[in-house]
Amino acid sequence: MATTDTPQATDFIRTIIAQDLKTNKHNGRVATRFPPEPNGHLHIGHAKSICLNFGVALEQGGTCNLRFDDTNPTKENIDYVESIKRDVKWLGFDWDDREYYASDYFEQLYAYAVQLIKDGHAYVCSLSPDEIRAYRGTLTEPGRDSPYRQRSVEENLDLFARMRAGEFAEGTHVLRARIDMASPNINMRDPTLYRILKAPHHRTGERWCIYPLYDFTHCLSDALEGITHSLCTLEFEDHRPLYDWALDVLPVPSHPQQIEFARLNLTYTVMSKRKLLTLVTDNYVSGWDDPRMPTLAGLRRRGYTPQSIRSFCERIGLAKRNSTVDYAMLEHSIREELNRTAPRVMAVLRPVRVVIDNYPQDRVEYLDAINNPEDASAGTRQVPFSRVLYIEREDFREDPPRKFFRLAPGREVRLRYAYIVKCVGVVKDDTGEITEIHCTYDPETRSGRPPAGRKVKATLHWVSAEHAVNAEVRLYDHFFTKPDPDNVEDGQAFTDYLNPHSLEILTACTVEPSLAQAEAGSRFQFERQGYFCVDTVDSSPGRPVFNRTVTLRDTWAKIQKAEQQKRA
Ligand code: ATP
Ligand code: MG
Repeated sequence: MATTDTPQATDFIRTIIAQDLKTNKHNGRVATRFPPEPNGHLHIGHAKSICLNFGVALEQGGTCNLRFDDTNPTKENIDYVESIKRDVKWLGFDWDDREYYASDYFEQLYAYAVQLIKDGHAYVCSLSPDEIRAYRGTLTEPGRDSPYRQRSVEENLDLFARMRAGEFAEGTHVLRARIDMASPNINMRDPTLYRILKAPHHRTGERWCIYPLYDFTHCLSDALEGITHSLCTLEFEDHRPLYDWALDVLPVPSHPQQIEFARLNLTYTVMSKRKLLTLVTDNYVSGWDDPRMPTLAGLRRRGYTPQSIRSFCERIGLAKRNSTVDYAMLEHSIREELNRTAPRVMAVLRPVRVVIDNYPQDRVEYLDAINNPEDASAGTRQVPFSRVLYIEREDFREDPPRKFFRLAPGREVRLRYAYIVKCVGVVKDDTGEITEIHCTYDPETRSGRPPAGRKVKATLHWVSAEHAVNAEVRLYDHFFTKPDPDNVEDGQAFTDYLNPHSLEILTACTVEPSLAQAEAGSRFQFERQGYFCVDTVDSSPGRPVFNRTVTLRDTWAKIQKAEQQKRA
């Protein structure tokens, strides 16, 4: 079971719950639920809700149910159910045996609907969907009563039973609550409770051809499960009167309290399931687990750990007003963890050959390299060094600009864990491209220690050519070109803002031999390059594929520092 970094962390919801415990409001119980609709894969926004619901239950010794809100069979399926379960578990949370489905309550919900009819609180309305919309009124005008509003209880019971029996076509009748067509809250203007939908359901099969709507289902499911605090996102604030209305007029076993919080929005990210589905079905990405997707499957494949996502969710906190979180903050969470835990290795992403002219042809030295300077217990490994090496092409300039301190003709640099080398010449091909850099090494400088008084400004990473393992590396950048891709200009689609450079594939990378058998999913810091994770889908033995999880540069830490300085 997951633990949270700062269990004392407090926010307005935890404050309410603590207060309710003090006054014994729910007999000292805390029962929450996470209620996904199985019509898509979970994303980082859902993680916020999962961490909150499971988190408060854990902190208070309560329970959190996993409940599938499966009332729309046309958009839902069992694969989504399975992936949701896997992702919640992966995040580190456990619902024990409390796996529930709204569809398991269909019979009970039907009975409640019949009760509403009997008590005069619901009626069968035979207006068309367009007419219902027209009768509903607007924010500034009250609605009008449906001509079917005064149907007798007997007629309503008969029609509702025949709706269930499949006698009517879709769209011909609905069951509506009889509340108040003049209510300033549109949700209270006789909302639809049931509709006819002749679609098989992934759990109930052909048993039903009428399905309850969200607003009717959710409150009753909460009440049936004895939920104490029903935590949901702000867009449901205006639905709360309806939530409470249903629980007040029906003989339910409990009356949970709905509390709303701001949903997570992230810069450079879309979170709507409809948009994420478009990205998948229209092949803008390789799938739901494409490492650019904000889905938990995508983040996992990218190299994010459950802990990093949980600490992110804690760091962003809870608010009652919507806002957008800087993507850099998410990156900060994983970088912070990997800095502590990821073994350092050397990998050359865009290699150019270096020949050390004065190094013996067949000599190989094994040099000690530190696995993690942040963690002494990680120890050291041996890295082979030989006459021909690879370094990054960008670490050499034939004509170095000012402030370029790396390798250039006549210049010395240190090779990490090895020697100081000096560039003595280059070889070019017909096109003028450098194919080989020639250097000499100074045998007195092994392990990179320059003799006293000698200044070397740069340390380069490298890989011995003879021992190098070929690898593919995938570099990722922001998925969208603008921080608010949901905000599209007239005539544009959100896909018009996809960053064409969000994925760069490098196929001729060379990595140190210790990585040949790196396990799928394992994470490393490539020195000077960033944090990388072995791809779980496309890697094969001896030919690893690495996803860059995040770069080394921590823009979030920079932003925070600047803000602190401003405040001081
Ligand atoms: P849809 O857009 O289809 O309504 P949804 O994103 O609301 O989907 P659900 O499956 O209904 O998805 O969400 C399950 C739970 O996760 C809900 O309680 C919802 O409020 C919460 N949730 C969804 N998106 C976010 C988000 N971005 N931030 C915080 N919580 C979220
Ligand atoms: Mg929803």
